Amino acid sequence: MQTPDTRIPVAVLGATGMVGQRFVSLLEAHPWFRLAEVAASPRSAGRRYADAVVWSSPGAVPASAVDLVLAALDDELPRRLDSPLVFSALDTDLAREFEPLFARAGKLVVTNASALRMDPRVPLIVPEVNAAHLALMERWDDGPGAIIANPNCSTIGLALVLAPLAREFGVEAAHVVTLQALSGAGRPGVASLDALDNVVPYIPGEEDKLATEPGKILGRLAGDAGAPSIELHPLVVSAQCNRVAVRDGHTLCVSVRLGRQVSREAILAAWGGFRGDELLRGLPSAPELPVLYDDAPNAPQPLLHRDVGRGMTAVVGRLQPCAVLGWRFVALSHNTLRGAAGGALLCAELAVARGWRPRGSGAQALGRPALRVPDRVPR
Ligand code: NAP
Repeated sequence: MQTPDTRIPVAVLGATGMVGQRFVSLLEAHPWFRLAEVAASPRSAGRRYADAVVWSSPGAVPASAVDLVLAALDDELPRRLDSPLVFSALDTDLAREFEPLFARAGKLVVTNASALRMDPRVPLIVPEVNAAHLALMERWDDGPGAIIANPNCSTIGLALVLAPLAREFGVEAAHVVTLQALSGAGRPGVASLDALDNVVPYIPGEEDKLATEPGKILGRLAGDAGAPSIELHPLVVSAQCNRVAVRDGHTLCVSVRLGRQVSREAILAAWGGFRGDELLRGLPSAPELPVLYDDAPNAPQPLLHRDVGRGMTAVVGRLQPCAVLGWRFVALSHNTLRGAAGGALLCAELAVARGWRPRGSGAQALGRPALRVPDRVPR
């Protein structure tokens, strides 16, 4: 007799895009979550996933997605979807309009869009950095669901490398120059004539996100038990963002002023010892090392380092004294894995590890047996 599939059924909104495709790939063999439903634009709705998608991720279209029929995004979709867990890879305007409808219908939404990141009812999570901020979920007051936001793809890499320094020494200011991959612009993305042989020193909205989101991520969970809030971290960030002709992987050249004078060895030890919340150990998408220092003189490079830790590790190199702010270094993280689908999956796994379970219609309406999702998965 076949063993029943007790994984949590999940839906992906924007499933045909750059981030959506990564979700579809990562969900193919996920031990806790099962890809059950997909949605995209009216252009794709009603078509088989394999027919509608312009597949541009590694490997073939995963078997679990090939025959799924894409749903249209409309006001009724939140009630039509059975999946209690929804991953959103929608553009910001659509996200702002539709994601609250899914939460109102009782879904847990994990979003990659920027629309609700700074909403005080929405935790903005880099799991290794601020797992405790998930407590903000209980502040969602528009229906029985909740929304968790994944930060901006460059901000995630920055937060991962600054968090250990903030914890050990304090961080006062950072200046960041980004070199961001083409896949970060979605499909079809930047025109080849604009991208090839070129650097474009403008990515709409990106510099503001890098300036504001770290304050929330590195902030302190405060407030009463029933009304948690975030005290923003006072760190000041100045960012300049550039689109470069790299396929995947965002590079960040960072200068930082720490809270006190520290040695190179102390900084390397802070990064090397960083593991994040104990709850992260053994989660399916958690890398062994969230931050890895590579002391090769020419590291990190997108081509060589973006897939370290299955694309979930931020790789740092070139730590040097900085005549302006004290220290400088270069960090690299994968924008569609750690910076989007992989990071969102890890957020959802963290929510499950902290006790979130589907309720109401969701999984039970599918006639599934009781879910048996372990709180901890042994490595
Ligand atoms: P994308 O490649 O342009 O994909 C957009 C997706 O949205 C496609 O599936 C598209 O479906 C769908 N869509 C478009 N119009 C729609 C409509 N009216 N109704 C329903 N679905 C619609 O974008 P992306 O790069 O994956 O980014 C998705 C989100 O993640 C954005 O908010 C982005 O800022 C964020 N993000 C992206 C990255 C990255 O590295 N790319 C990283 C972090 C966060 P069709 O195929 O049918 O048009």
